[in-house]
Amino acid sequence: MSKKILILPGDGIGQEVTSSMVEVLQYLIDEQNLDFQITEKTVGGSSFDESGEPLTEETLEIARNSDAILFGAVGGPQWDHLGWDLRPEQALLELRKSLGLFANLRPAFLFNELASASPLKNHIIENLDILIVRELTGGVYFGEPRGIVENETPKYGFNTMIYNEDEIRRIAKVAFEAAMNRDKKLCSVEKANVLEVSKFWRGIVTEMSAEYPEVELSHQLADNTAMQLVLNPNQYDVIVSGNLFGDMLSDIAATLSGSIGMLPSASLNSSSQGMYEPCHGSAPDIAGQDIANPIAMISSLAMAFEYSLERVDLARRIESAVKTFISKGYRTKDISTSEEFLKTQEVASTLINILKDEYE
Ligand code: NAD
Repeated sequence: MSKKILILPGDGIGQEVTSSMVEVLQYLIDEQNLDFQITEKTVGGSSFDESGEPLTEETLEIARNSDAILFGAVGGPQWDHLGWDLRPEQALLELRKSLGLFANLRPAFLFNELASASPLKNHIIENLDILIVRELTGGVYFGEPRGIVENETPKYGFNTMIYNEDEIRRIAKVAFEAAMNRDKKLCSVEKANVLEVSKFWRGIVTEMSAEYPEVELSHQLADNTAMQLVLNPNQYDVIVSGNLFGDMLSDIAATLSGSIGMLPSASLNSSSQGMYEPCHGSAPDIAGQDIANPIAMISSLAMAFEYSLERVDLARRIESAVKTFISKGYRTKDISTSEEFLKTQEVASTLINILKDEYE
């Protein structure tokens, strides 16, 4: 069946890691004779430079009609002066909201060969394999009313943290189902000790657990989870959380694995449409040097094959090739313990050779 893919490289290293990922995608299209229609568009700062908008209506319309969107990263200091609506990051928020991408799946795992790149001691971090399910289109990032009031004394800024029952149920369902396919442990994280919205969240998740008797459900306060992720991350299997806490926790989890350049993510809606992107940003500090690690982006392609492109077999092949890449000792600069490392563009060709070898 024909599938539509939109490629949005974005800014900074977003462009470099996306070009590496596209090489792998193109190899698989040729090898498997896949019927994919691919469109590439600018987004974020690059789109602003081209059209005056971080996300044009045309690109948004193509995104709406795509099965999978492969998104690099956006942002950079040259666009930091822009007003709120024109900032590159606005494109991401707009895509998530417009496509209803409410479920953000962020695996955090460690290849044991890279344990020394983790800031944690080996015995704490070894065999790390957790999944953070973050609610992405609600909560305080989108809640209304919001604003900055300048004409009162003192001036103030405010946001609204709000979740309705349906929003909690649909993200909890994704998390319970993910747990069913893994080790059947789910930890729901909020701040029920101080926030009414969290107390409500806890009640709904607890109610839903009756539908998943095989899943062991626990509840934790977000500040404790931040601490526990560093002290004993292997206690978790799946974590589910709202937008704000999930944002913080998934970044902590990403750091555990040694490099943010290794970790993919998927953002899904209720149909199987999804946006797939690395967990990292546009890394202006290393942009243009061909040293960015493209594995997070290439592993995001694997997630796209699994969740939107109906080719789980190709997802597994990419994951296996990445494992082989690491176990054979190939390294990018961020995960290398020596002066030897592969450039961004060399990673794709190395992975393609592994894919070929493992296919034969
Ligand atoms: P960042 O993730 O871009 O970089 C953090 C650190 O990690 C930097 O030292 C960077 O060099 C390193 N790093 C990140 N990805 C890497 C990779 N693939 N390989 C090797 N090293 C890597 O976060 P930041 O510095 O806080 O933000 C930079 C810009 O990116 C900002 O404009 C921010 O708004 C934007 N941003 C965008 C997204 C997104 O597009 N989803 C996410 C986060 C930040």
